[in-house]
Amino acid sequence: MIYAKIDNAAQKLLSGSVLSKNEIVELLQINSHTDECTYLRKKADECGRIITGNRAYLWGAVGVDYAACPLNCDFCSFGADWGLVKAEKIYTLPEIITQVREYVANQVHFIVLRTTQYYPHEMLINFAQAIRGEVPGNYELIINTGEFDGKAADRLRRSGVNGIYHAVRLREGIDTRFNVEDRLKTLSSAKHSSLNLIHLVEPVGAEHSYGEIADRFLCAVEYGAYISGIMARIPVKGTPLGNIPQLSDGEIAKMIAVLRLASGTTVRHICVHPASELAVQSGANVVVVETGAIPRDAEITPGKWLNFDVHSAKKLFEDNGFVL
Ligand code: SF4
Repeated sequence: MIYAKIDNAAQKLLSGSVLSKNEIVELLQINSHTDECTYLRKKADECGRIITGNRAYLWGAVGVDYAACPLNCDFCSFGADWGLVKAEKIYTLPEIITQVREYVANQVHFIVLRTTQYYPHEMLINFAQAIRGEVPGNYELIINTGEFDGKAADRLRRSGVNGIYHAVRLREGIDTRFNVEDRLKTLSSAKHSSLNLIHLVEPVGAEHSYGEIADRFLCAVEYGAYISGIMARIPVKGTPLGNIPQLSDGEIAKMIAVLRLASGTTVRHICVHPASELAVQSGANVVVVETGAIPRDAEITPGKWLNFDVHSAKKLFEDNGFVL
């Protein structure tokens, strides 16, 4: 019965249909240690390779400001109330450009500048113009920052930005101090602008039901995200959710497989973070390398987070038969 449902999901993907919430939840309920799950991941891998033409992409993030953030999300190391950020560091434009240059020279396609909630848009616009001036290449420049309206979206686009990372996070308004409506307004500004939207389901932990995960994915689809996927919640000691363990690679890979099969024609790329070989063999074709200020870590990261650098990322895809 479940094999037929997996086959049906694969057919729907190849004909361009998005799965319903019930269909997504049914597939997420498959135990990740079973033969059924192996079949699910295999189908998602096969279909993902057809949809993407077997192409994989690297996402290189630069955490711009290692700074205490007054929003105090329960999973984030930057929350001011958790007291984990001792000495702030704000990366300068030359430091950011050096990092972007290194990423672009190493085939990173999505360059993501990530900030805390209130980082000034004006600075990001200046950075984008400077990066475009100094680092030529066929890469996409993505900004991950706080809320913005249509006017700000247009200004970002004109400054050389291609896309926006924005998400209604899991348990937004419960594990975060945000109003969901404000996050949706920003998603709507992105949808109605010429910016591309990237919206992962995040930060996924053992505390979330499969229904919640399906809802967040369908929200990404509704707002037209062209990259989605799964970002696991990393338990950072000292944050309110820091004692709830991280999900296993097997469970995350299963979720990746389900999202790949659920994604229809809107979501072209499925990203997993942190990367694992199992996820890359289950439908993920984007992985993240990151440096600088990282909300999953209490310490600043001068190198690459968890030592997962562009060479490890490339090898992961090449070993699994993808073309970068
Ligand atoms: S997730 Fe973003 S908004 Fe929330 S505390 Fe961290 S930096 Fe601030």
